[in-house]
Order: sequence, then structure tokens, then C-alpha cells
Amino acid sequence: MIRRPIYLDCHATTPVDERVLAAMLPYFTEHFGNPASVGHPYGWEAEAAVRQARETLAQAINAQPEEIVFTSGATEANNLAIKGIAEAYCQQGQHIITVQTEHKAILDPCNYLEKLGFQVTYLPVDSDGLLDLNLLEKAFRPETILVSVMAANNEIGVLQPIAQIGGICREHQVLFHTDAAQAIGKIPLDVEAMKIDLMSLTAHKVYGPKGIGALYVRRKPKVQVAPQLHGGGQERGMRSGTLYPPQIVGFAKAVEIALAEQAEETTRLTLLRQQLWRKLSQIDGIYLNGHSTQRLPGNLNISLEGVDGAALLLGLQPVMAISSGSACSSAKIAPSHVLLAIGRSEQLAYSSVRFGIGRWQTTAEIDEAAERASATIHSLRRQTVLH
Ligand SMILES: *Cc1c(COP(=O)(O)O)cnc(C)c1O
Repeated sequence: MIRRPIYLDCHATTPVDERVLAAMLPYFTEHFGNPASVGHPYGWEAEAAVRQARETLAQAINAQPEEIVFTSGATEANNLAIKGIAEAYCQQGQHIITVQTEHKAILDPCNYLEKLGFQVTYLPVDSDGLLDLNLLEKAFRPETILVSVMAANNEIGVLQPIAQIGGICREHQVLFHTDAAQAIGKIPLDVEAMKIDLMSLTAHKVYGPKGIGALYVRRKPKVQVAPQLHGGGQERGMRSGTLYPPQIVGFAKAVEIALAEQAEETTRLTLLRQQLWRKLSQIDGIYLNGHSTQRLPGNLNISLEGVDGAALLLGLQPVMAISSGSACSSAKIAPSHVLLAIGRSEQLAYSSVRFGIGRWQTTAEIDEAAERASATIHSLRRQTVLH
């Protein structure tokens, strides 16, 4: 049997933890009710499970259960936040501030709003991928209604200073949204301490199922979000559609496990990342993308001089499952907008590899990945010289 490649693409998605799956299973067949069915025990069981999950998730971010709006994932949560705020507050102003290195699920809704007449400032980042808070300060206008800055970057793993950004937004009395799809369960998140008004979450980057996420929406003081899906009025009218108890239960279980194991997992994944970088950094013309320490524990993103990006991926993919740039933009042949934003040349942005180390990775696998990657890079460079 051909061995499957080592999975090193945990920013694209993660496998479902067995403990999460076990928690989900009864809600497919046994407790299959619709949480909105108030007239019989099938509905009550499902409603109780959803209520419990909502409490767990709220606690995980220091919020109240009524502030959690379930969605199909972070893409939908981001769309609901950006378009929902724009629609609800357009009388007060039509200016939004965000950052060039955001996920497409932020940038595209912002582009869409620009077509409708909104103005959007896309702030640059420094060569480490960090936002300059002085630039943020200067970007506010009287008509600014929202600031959206991601907590952890999906390509280069960089962690933005969310608490400081939240403080600045609060001083300017402007709503603050953060896309925490990569951050939930991996770094501490506290909507009170960090002064976050809206936060997008997803389960499948943290060993939960795909197709479920949430938008945290502050209630005190109340943040208005215009619904983008109309129908049965679920989720206090903000997101209609029958709730999906197995996914919701799995989401909460995944976050609960991640929080319980966060300290230990952070240490272990940081060591594995350092092990990988120690080996790879010996290669000539290799660059680390993103801040060296202020990043997700399991993230390593590198660029290589003098290596063709497509050939590099082809060479590595039989051995390891990795992405070039972000999974979303790698379907198109375009250099990563994140790598261009941190000042990499087009060539270095093309010849990049994102390693996403996950919960079950072993030191032996990391050693093997590092060795195979160096061998592939050396052989590609030899071929280029021969041609
Ligand atoms: C994965 C991801 C998304 C999209 O989340 P889905 O739940 O897959 O829709 C949004 N933002 C970031 C930063 C991500 O990493």
C-alpha cells in the first residue's frame, strides 16, 4: 500500500478528534430533534444540547450564551459581521477599516460593500506581518463604523495585538470585529479584556467538524447586526435556519478540549515548529515569513530563492500534504496577497510553503518532513543549474 503523505496542512482544516465525534454521534440518530420544536421531548433534548454547547462556547471567550449566533462557519460569520454591521449602521457612517493580510472572507465582503458605495481602508502591515497601531489611529474618520482585524493569520500565523486594537477602537467608540477562525482554542481569547464587539469562530481548524461556526455579537452595549439570512427567525432573528445539533455539540466539545489542553499543546507544537525550522534554516536562500515568535505555535511559512513554486509543491506533495500560500488562493495561480503585503517579491511569494503542524504530529514525522523538504529543494536547485 502506498503511504499517504504526512498531513501538515492544519490551517486548511484538521481531522475531527475522536472525543468530538463520540459526543456528536447520538445527535444524528437518537436525539435527532429540531431544537425549535417546543412541544415534545425530541425537541427538548436537542434544545438542551444546543443550550449546553452555547454555554460552553460563551464561557470559552468570556461571553454570555445569548451573544453566540451559530453559523455555517467563519466565512458566514465574517459576512454576517461585515455586511450586517454595514447595513445596520450605514446612517451613522460608511467607512470601514481593515488590513491587507485578512482572509478573503473579510476582503471580499469589504470589496462588495465598496461597490455599494462604502469606503474601506486596507491598512498595510510591517515586514513581520504586524499592524502598526499608529497607522490604525490615523485611519479613523468621523464616519468610521467598524474595524476588522484578524486575531491569527491563516498563512503566516501572525498574532495581531488584539487587546491593544480593541482598546483603541473603544476609545474612538467604533465597533471592533475580529476573525478568530485560526485563534480559537489556540490562544486565549476574552471578549471583555480584549474589548471585542464581534468575533468570528469556526470548528474545523480546531479538531471539530466542518460546516459549523459562530459569530459572537456583544449585547452590552447592544450591537445591531442586520440579518443576511431571513426565515424562521432562529438565533434571535440574526441567522435563520434550523440549528444543526450534532455539529454544534461537536464544535463545543472541540473548543472545550482545546482549552483544557491549550498550555500543553502550545508547548509541544512550538517545539515541533522550532525543530522543523532548525533543520530548514540551514538551507541557503530560505526566508521565514511572519514574526519569529508572535505567531501560532504550529505555523511555519517559508519562501525560497531560486526555486520554482509549482515545481516545489509537486516535489513535496507525494511526501507531505502542505499548501503554498493559503489553501483558498492556491486554487488560482496568483502569489499570496499576504506574502506580498509583508514585502516579499513575486518570486518569493510564489515559492512559498506553509506548514501547519497539528495535534498528533510526532518528532519523527517532523524530522522526515524536514529531511525530505531539504532534499527536494536541493535537487530542484541542481536541476535549475543544469538547464
Ligand atoms: C478558515 C478560515 C476562514 C473560513 O472559515 P470557514 O469556517 O471554513 O468558512 C476564515 N478566516 C480565517 C482566518 C480562516 O483561517
